[in-house]
Amino acid sequence: MDLPVPCTVALSFDQVHDIAGGDLPDMAALLKPFGDQPLLCVRPSSEDPDWGGPGAVMNVGMNDALYVDLCDRIGADAASAVYMRFVQGYAINVARLDPDMFDGLTLQGSEGLRQVLSAYEAETDEAFPQDPVVQLSGVLQSMARAWEGTTARLLRQAKGAPADAGLGLVVQAMALGLGAGECGSGVIQLVSSQTGMPMVTGRYRSQSQGRDALQKEGTSIYLAKDPRGPSLEELAPAAFAQLIDYTAMMRVRLREEMQTEFTIENGKVHVLDGVRIRRSPRAAVRIAVALAEDGIIPKEEAILRVEPRALTEMLHRQVDPDAPREVIARGIAASPGAASGKIVFSSAAAQAAASRDERCVLIRRETSPEDIRGMHVAVAVLTERGGITSHAAVIGRGLGLPCVVGASDISLNLRRNTVTMADGRVLREGDEITVDGTSGVVLLGAPPLLESARDDAFQALMTWADDFRDIGVRANADTPADAQIARNFDAQGIGLCRTEHMFFDAGRLTVMREMIFAAEPADRRAALEQLLPMQRADFVELFRIMEGHPVCIRLLDPPLHEFLPSDKEGIRSLADALDLPVSDVAHRIEELGEHNPMLGLRGVRLGITMPEIYDMQARAIFEAVLEAGGGVVPEIMIPLVSARREVELVKTRIEAVAAAVRTASGRKFDYRLGVMVETPRAALRAGEIAPHAAFLSFGTNDLTQMTYGLSRDDAGRFMRTYVQQGVFPEDPFHILDYDGVGELLQIGAKRGRDARKDLVLSICGEHGGNPESIEFCRRAGFDYVSCSPFRVPVARLAAAQLAV
Ligand code: PEP
Ligand code: MG
Repeated sequence: MDLPVPCTVALSFDQVHDIAGGDLPDMAALLKPFGDQPLLCVRPSSEDPDWGGPGAVMNVGMNDALYVDLCDRIGADAASAVYMRFVQGYAINVARLDPDMFDGLTLQGSEGLRQVLSAYEAETDEAFPQDPVVQLSGVLQSMARAWEGTTARLLRQAKGAPADAGLGLVVQAMALGLGAGECGSGVIQLVSSQTGMPMVTGRYRSQSQGRDALQKEGTSIYLAKDPRGPSLEELAPAAFAQLIDYTAMMRVRLREEMQTEFTIENGKVHVLDGVRIRRSPRAAVRIAVALAEDGIIPKEEAILRVEPRALTEMLHRQVDPDAPREVIARGIAASPGAASGKIVFSSAAAQAAASRDERCVLIRRETSPEDIRGMHVAVAVLTERGGITSHAAVIGRGLGLPCVVGASDISLNLRRNTVTMADGRVLREGDEITVDGTSGVVLLGAPPLLESARDDAFQALMTWADDFRDIGVRANADTPADAQIARNFDAQGIGLCRTEHMFFDAGRLTVMREMIFAAEPADRRAALEQLLPMQRADFVELFRIMEGHPVCIRLLDPPLHEFLPSDKEGIRSLADALDLPVSDVAHRIEELGEHNPMLGLRGVRLGITMPEIYDMQARAIFEAVLEAGGGVVPEIMIPLVSARREVELVKTRIEAVAAAVRTASGRKFDYRLGVMVETPRAALRAGEIAPHAAFLSFGTNDLTQMTYGLSRDDAGRFMRTYVQQGVFPEDPFHILDYDGVGELLQIGAKRGRDARKDLVLSICGEHGGNPESIEFCRRAGFDYVSCSPFRVPVARLAAAQLAV
């Protein structure tokens, strides 16, 4: 590249592997290109600098004879520094001596050098090796072996390196950075690692070597002019300009944003190394987009260069990674983002805090529909129990509310309104904490947060992703607010609207409860009459926001008792609202209670036993279509189906409602009826269900629960142990179980499509937003995935990566 790089010889992965095994290259041949340049540096060069590895060893070749020579050239102090640095590096890396042995020594001037050399001799009973070949062999071998050691291998594998990741070594003539004229070393990069925005950053230090300039102590200066202090641009403008050119050229030629490591020797610039710059997710997006926009890489490659999951970080506020933090509890990262607020322990307290304009964090053992009010006003939620598909997690993701669930190391005392954290610290209502739902930790106090970054670079990358991907991405959205977020993220419609979430609002809950308490169908119908306009208004709003994109509405799913209070206080106020004796209310709640509600009277079973509920919902949908006008084709989805007959029964009633609405309005409309595949039996019997359904949507939350026989609300308690012991490779509620649940998906998809060619297939469980699940669904021939709104961009990018 015509860069002023000192003479360099590179050793390949294979050669270095051989060196670790004791097979050294021909040293005379290796040293030949360096001619009369006696001082060398050995640098590590791995595929990815983030995987770690040995540090560079400088000044190899330094010995007593050269010292004398160097004293003449650069002075005794500088020559001593060069020699000392090498002796220390050699002692620690090659002779494997304790770094502490140099503690307390002067480390300056010729006296320092004398002390260091005699400390070496005392420790090894040998004089410091003077032969450059012996020195270089030792350094090469120690670096090669350091890479192959078990600890180093495990460490880099944890960072994603393959087991056989190789290390290259680069032997390079030293450019000293010490001596007469402007001498020194530093690093420079042209964009910010935090934002990816153009910005010359780096440090430079006169009379220094290696990466000294980056060390905190010492007198390093800025690269570009800076109001905070002196800069290289002012000190050596020509060198500065050259460095900018070189780094910009590396970006083009190496097709990557690089950090240049350099030395200046008497004003002359030497480029020692170029390393891919470290970057935050936000910077990764901007760097990839800029490289593509500048024509350096194709758009396909830009898409591949951003880790989809990393997008989650930039879509939410996050705790500043550089800020000090005090972790006081850990749990499951259930809904990303970070927020700080004062602790409250109930929805009522949350609402009270909100009315005082205070930001609050709701802590509950687990949440229930009654907590929705509190969740709406809280800035974050923390629960002691629950897993990735628990109520708090699902609602949190829907609301874009940071949420940590299953923090089993905290302990709530609701009578005292205190919570004991993992470290034994007791916090009370009003104490400030921060919930980091991206990493699943809870922090004390309010550390600084970084804002979310949905900037132009993000938009550009997403647009490109959409051009490439070949599987649809919709959002799970229950409320107009969710739907708006989904649209802002360019979801191609709503794949799942859980209508029960529309009944949790304070104003509606009472009517809903009246409906549940109705003893006679006539009373029930009266309550439903009241709910109808509310539902209709919701749907009109959803259709309006989605602007003609498909909206898939799921009929009511949860067991009815979920809408009822569980504590005395709640029962009393409900009795008040319904004008019924407390004993009647308590009795009815007991009546509705089930031993295993998840497997009880919910989903389509409700629709079969109390058909008026689905009638009302269907009517609300159709009337909303008419009200919204303009060719909306709603999709109606029947939950928790396990038998064909369930579909037939519901279908007949919905057809009747449609006919009635058409007759009453004198207008036409279309709709599509589909089935949620959430029970293993529905997947197995997809062949006989499909003829009655325009689409099948796999609800992998329930399907996972039922396939494993594993409660989605309780599994959090032992999931960590199960994963740690390797019983499950991952939490199957989090990462789709391809072997078991996945096989049911494949069977269902195949049998369904065999029976009906135009059957639309999708997934709407929480797995829908995971890059791995998307790959699985794409291979199984699914038409789209549906996930919570904030995961839509992740899904769009992951889908594009599969297609490019
Ligand atoms: C599912 O079971 O996967 C699903 C999407 O429905 P819910 O989570 O509402 O039960
Ligand atoms: Mg379900």
